[in-house]
Amino acid sequence: MSESPPWSPASLAAQALGFTDPATRAVVRPLHLATTFIRDPDNTYPAGYIYGRPDNATVRDTEALLATLEEAPAGALLFGSGMAAATACFLALDRGDHVVASAVMYWALRRWLQTEGRRFGLEVDFVETDDPAKLRAAVVPGRTKLVWVETPSNPLWTVTDIAEAARIAHAAGARLAVDSTCASPVHTRPLTLGADIVMHSATKILNGHSDVIAGVLAGREADGYWERLAAIRSGNGSILGPFEAYLLQRGLKTLFVRQTAQAAGAAELAHALSRHPDVARVLYPGLTQHPGHDVAARQMENGFGYMLSVQVRGGEAAAIATAARVRLWKRATSLGSTESLIEHRASVEGPGSPCPPDLLRLSTGVETPADLLHDLDVALRAAHA
Ligand SMILES: *Cc1c(COP(=O)(O)O)cnc(C)c1O
Repeated sequence: MSESPPWSPASLAAQALGFTDPATRAVVRPLHLATTFIRDPDNTYPAGYIYGRPDNATVRDTEALLATLEEAPAGALLFGSGMAAATACFLALDRGDHVVASAVMYWALRRWLQTEGRRFGLEVDFVETDDPAKLRAAVVPGRTKLVWVETPSNPLWTVTDIAEAARIAHAAGARLAVDSTCASPVHTRPLTLGADIVMHSATKILNGHSDVIAGVLAGREADGYWERLAAIRSGNGSILGPFEAYLLQRGLKTLFVRQTAQAAGAAELAHALSRHPDVARVLYPGLTQHPGHDVAARQMENGFGYMLSVQVRGGEAAAIATAARVRLWKRATSLGSTESLIEHRASVEGPGSPCPPDLLRLSTGVETPADLLHDLDVALRAAHA
């Protein structure tokens, strides 16, 4: 009998690592709901499950799949949301520690760092991490403990060179964490490029169906910091429920087909919209004129993501009027789902945001790209009539 080849990540995801139910031979594992487990006569818990915060087999199965997809030697930890996963990385630091974070990043996390993070005693500097010289100038050897990078980053899709950021962070004695929500393991595996921690809002493309809020961390080294992240999750109770983990695992089975189709659709939209008379500028790392294109071409595969933004001619009023006129696109926040979403970001982010007022953020779903383009074209023309 010949040996199996190393199955591709897409094949492993399609079968959720081949999990089956030993009792019934079912091809899908049951959903485990128990909150407590029997102690053996010898006073031990031989299965390793003691109490549902945080011991749950459905959660652990989903974590095993995520760790495989991220090539994470330390494993993966699921959290109750992306924000719970991200904030754990900062709560695991010490008072007075210095943090350098991307200036362009998920707005709610930036706000958390500016408010709760500072109250917790962290010193946070926001810099354009897509410029290695600025990142190098911002880290303070010995004092900077964490560099936080989002790439491609919301909502301008700036691209940070992960390998270079890892070299800069490590030379200063800091860890590098990457919010890879918009790339996902389909496009980029930050740990293989030198990052120490990768974080996702699993609410987005990983689940992909707008019906689960979840977050995940995957780690390169099972060191003291990683243990602290697990302890914070358990101690703060920021765990994911088993049903959400089950749905997430189900969503992950189609991650590769969804994301490659969504990225292909986004690329088609980006090229077509760059030629649209009512569009001033398209922001998408797959376009050669995008400032992050060369780095993206090096560190992303299978496409350049499902997210793009357009700057509408006529400014903020024309952008809002366009978002109000679409019919197939859904006018809603969030991203990565099967249904395409459109949003005027400046209305959400408020003062202090680097988001231009004429910007519409587009999350490409799995609808036919020609339909999405037609819907946007009609809305843009009506808004400019
Ligand atoms: C949505 C999002 C988050 C926050 O995740 P939640 O699951 O909503 O808590 C963090 N980073 C990025 C890039 C996101 O898009």
